Amino acid sequence: MIERKCTKCGTWNKDEDHCTSCGAALSPKAIDQEKEIKRKEEEANKQPSKFDLFLEKSKNSKFWIVRVGYYIMYSVTLIVGAFGAFVAWMVAMANA
Ligand SMILES: [Zn+2]
Repeated sequence: MIERKCTKCGTWNKDEDHCTSCGAALSPKAIDQEKEIKRKEEEANKQPSKFDLFLEKSKNSKFWIVRVGYYIMYSVTLIVGAFGAFVAWMVAMANA
């Protein structure tokens, strides 16, 4: 029989996953589950980064020049990405 002392309220519990007095996680399994839930909650509440906000703002700007700038930047990023993939493919072929 395992007895666990609750770290939150100090109540001694028999082989329980959660404290019978305050409901805190006691067993390693329950603690892991609680951590996983917290991690998911934090992920869901994460604020968009400043860069994302900047992109979103540029895309919806009332100044057409900013919107054009956004699409040019976006296209350049795509082209550079495609070119990078092409170079990587060339290198892979050269080594084959
Ligand atoms: Zn407790």
